[in-house]
Amino acid sequence: MPTGAIVRTQFDTAADLAGLDASQRRLLQGPFRSVSVEVPVRMDDGRIEVYRGYRIQHSGARGPCKGGIRFHPEADEAEVLGLATTMTWKTALADVPFGGAKGGVQVDPRTLSQRELEGVTRSFTGRISLMLGPYRDVPAPDMGTNPQVMAWLLDEYSKRNGYSPAVVTGKPVALGGSLGREEATAQGVVYVMEAYAADEGLAIEGSRVVIQGFGNVGAHTGRLLHERGARVIAVTDVDGGLHNDQGLDIPRLFAHAYQQRKPVAEFVGGDAITNEALWRVPCDWLIPAALGGVISKDRNVNDIECGVVVEAANAPTTPIADKVLESRGVTVLPDFLVNAGGVIVSYFEWAQNLQQHPWTFERVNEELHRKITAAYRMVRDLRRERKAQWRTAAYAIALQRVAEAERLRGH
Ligand code: GLU
Repeated sequence: MPTGAIVRTQFDTAADLAGLDASQRRLLQGPFRSVSVEVPVRMDDGRIEVYRGYRIQHSGARGPCKGGIRFHPEADEAEVLGLATTMTWKTALADVPFGGAKGGVQVDPRTLSQRELEGVTRSFTGRISLMLGPYRDVPAPDMGTNPQVMAWLLDEYSKRNGYSPAVVTGKPVALGGSLGREEATAQGVVYVMEAYAADEGLAIEGSRVVIQGFGNVGAHTGRLLHERGARVIAVTDVDGGLHNDQGLDIPRLFAHAYQQRKPVAEFVGGDAITNEALWRVPCDWLIPAALGGVISKDRNVNDIECGVVVEAANAPTTPIADKVLESRGVTVLPDFLVNAGGVIVSYFEWAQNLQQHPWTFERVNEELHRKITAAYRMVRDLRRERKAQWRTAAYAIALQRVAEAERLRGH
């Protein structure tokens, strides 16, 4: 099931529970502004390739629109809208003063040279720069993009508008990026897991962790959990992966797969497993950290044997799989709570840029901890009070905040 459809179904369920009327639903569901652009790029062989790109601003009710830019072949309009919508609930739940947006270019960045990647970024930025601005819409990295891509975006925007570091977050630190932003999403995942573990009398130390995806979020989450004494027993990337019940050597795997960008399966130190077999590995924490829609009824939900699904990716669980997990007593900690650390530190980066006053790494992590734990506790308390799912409680808080902002603004 595609991400857009998952997010739409989740919204309908939550809107029913929150008792939103028809016009509130229309206002909160549809995008505020949706733009589709041609992205022409001169390739290394001299020909012009034309990609399709989108920037969708789902809501600006609570502040400038905020959300990453994804370079991925599946980043079509429906997917980008679903992800933009999730950003609205994520920023509202985290209580950072932003709305939600997302961008996407339908391209596989692995097929591009560095020069072509720069070309795609500059061309796309040029086409959407009218929509952007520190108080309008502030992009950030997402799947397939990174701090270097944000640096080119900053340069391209600044050529037109003067030097504007607050127009984009997730920049290299040398250009006004924040310390701690690179690992912020993973750090937030770990803080939520720690808060949940403390409430439930569980331990991170010695627990078994399985991670699907070893990009920015998966790799840093693995590293941070390993540092806290967890056993990361299975990891995959797009090409398969490894399993070792004693725990993988995460610092070396991090260097191999994340820093040197080599396939996880080529690392020595475990048994090879396929992407399908990963879901069958019994564990305490199962952490999808890649694409949406990967846990589904047809594919794998009945094979999953874990205590908690920690949704580090956006929309990894289809609504039916979600119900199956609930009926089996598996807790699903929802994406827009679990992975909010990225946008929370993006907010800190934006604030540092506007004030021209950089923070220390310790301050970033302290404030991230405070903010994401506060969101976690609100969801936990509402969930207990209403006897609802984690996701439903999180939605109730986010929808109510956005609806209130819309109402006060006269909509
Ligand atoms: N792409 C990240 C997300 O999905 C970060 C967005 C941001 O920092 O604006 O949450």
